[in-house]
Amino acid sequence: MNKDINVAYFSAEVGINESIKTYSGGLGILAGDTIKAMADLEVPFCAMTLLYKYGFFKQEINDEDRQQELNDPWDYESILEDTGLETSLTIRNTKIIVKIWKYEYTGETGHKVPIYFLDTHHKENPDWAKELTEHLYVGDRIAQELLLGVGGYRALEVLGHTDLGTYHMNEGHSAFLTLEMYKDLGEKTGVWENQQVIDKCVFTTHTPIPAGHDKFEYSDFYNAIEGEDNLAPWHLKELAGEDKLNMTKLALSLTRYTNAVSRKHAQVSREMFPGRDIDYITNGIHTTTWTCSYMKALYDNYILGWREDSTKLRDVFKIPNSEIFKAHNQAKEDLINHVNSVNITGAKLDSKVLTIGFARRFIQYKDAEMIFSNLDDLKRVGKKVQFIFAGKAHKHDGLGKEIMKRIIDRAKDLKDDISIAFIENYNIAVAKKLISGCDLWLNTPIPPNEASGTSGMKGAVNGCSHFSRLDGWAIESYEMNGGGFPISEYADFIATLEYKIIPMFNSENKTSWIEQMKSSIGNSGSYFNTHRMAKEYLEKAYKLK
Ligand SMILES: *Cc1c(COP(=O)(O)O)cnc(C)c1O
Repeated sequence: MNKDINVAYFSAEVGINESIKTYSGGLGILAGDTIKAMADLEVPFCAMTLLYKYGFFKQEINDEDRQQELNDPWDYESILEDTGLETSLTIRNTKIIVKIWKYEYTGETGHKVPIYFLDTHHKENPDWAKELTEHLYVGDRIAQELLLGVGGYRALEVLGHTDLGTYHMNEGHSAFLTLEMYKDLGEKTGVWENQQVIDKCVFTTHTPIPAGHDKFEYSDFYNAIEGEDNLAPWHLKELAGEDKLNMTKLALSLTRYTNAVSRKHAQVSREMFPGRDIDYITNGIHTTTWTCSYMKALYDNYILGWREDSTKLRDVFKIPNSEIFKAHNQAKEDLINHVNSVNITGAKLDSKVLTIGFARRFIQYKDAEMIFSNLDDLKRVGKKVQFIFAGKAHKHDGLGKEIMKRIIDRAKDLKDDISIAFIENYNIAVAKKLISGCDLWLNTPIPPNEASGTSGMKGAVNGCSHFSRLDGWAIESYEMNGGGFPISEYADFIATLEYKIIPMFNSENKTSWIEQMKSSIGNSGSYFNTHRMAKEYLEKAYKLK
């Protein structure tokens, strides 16, 4: 047992690799990429999450172009280690036994970071309690969040990770841990004070829209904690909000440090929670996870130490253009072959054509249909560009599902005019192929909804430039000449594509295009990575530097 752990990181989802299916998208993958960077930097760090036996879901598109959600089971019994340890909590007067599983992630220099998965599939638990760790973001949310926050804090005690320096809540889902800590420290010290909790907790908020913050009715909360003693402090409403229990407010009230995930997101968050001190640490991605094998080979050749320290990607400018272009085209060739074998729209892609990727959750604010604003425009550029779409819509997001269906329908209708592919079941494995093989990564969120965005960063380290509306990380990237092309409205999109991007991509010697790729790698890639990000957390949030 590692008694030296100093930081515990709580996250409702964690995406470490394609076999561990406890993630849905950006938040989980960011958590995984954070864990990996902490391991690379040899930080005494552990992570706490829930074991969702059936993952998020496996997406299939049916004959009517509609999303079907299937269970996505994974082999956790062989992938994880059973610690043999258990903890418990009481929910609605029923004692729930919680098993603790472990996965150790090993960093570049051999340092290990444990990730603990809480599991309620215990024979003595009632069926409703077992279901708490079956599906991500579906079902009994308040009980799942009690399990993560309260159960997670208790699990750390059982594991011997007690009295840590920092408990880091990655998004508000785990904020109940503050209540358990308030109670635990109160019982241990006889002093019941906010400050004891504040001194130990830090919080990262990820949601710029008020509706995105978890809120519970107080009646549901009190009902859920029936049988737990002293979990609700007398002044709970002061901490978490008068009319509803707002998990973000609760976290904000009991943390010594709070951050948003981009500069713009911090501005929006400060307006949403006036009077709170909200810093920002812009997100990043774990470079060796997201760099394709061809680019890795190139960086290994030219950039000493880039695997342990992604900021070294600044040295990309000394790599010959021809080699960058060749490595990218190998990844592109692989992608186009793959897409042509799995595409569901009937379009056939050509590896010589400018390829634009769009993949993320289908939800209204990401505006996935922007490219279809004027079909005449699209048909005019149709032979010079091709698109690849992928992404899931949340099970209960009817509008997101409609958007997805309309895109697939359009792609089929337009297939003689322009090639638009759709790949099912966007996940880590699909993302890796897509992000490294596309020439351009399209991102069209309607500001200020995108807290940061990370898929464009994954593109950057592969020389896939971003083509984005200015929100989240993209604002910072453009300011530092991080490659790519800004969009403020549809007219910009089509004009930039037609008069700037297509001619640049198709020019005889490709020099300015490859310069763009190098700016993406050397300026964006060297900065928007979790090595830089983790160092900021160590310094500003954990006070370990
Ligand atoms: C990176 C990633 C995301 C998040 O992408 P955004 O650009 O932040 O929306 C979602 N899903 C998968 C599978 C990813 O790899």
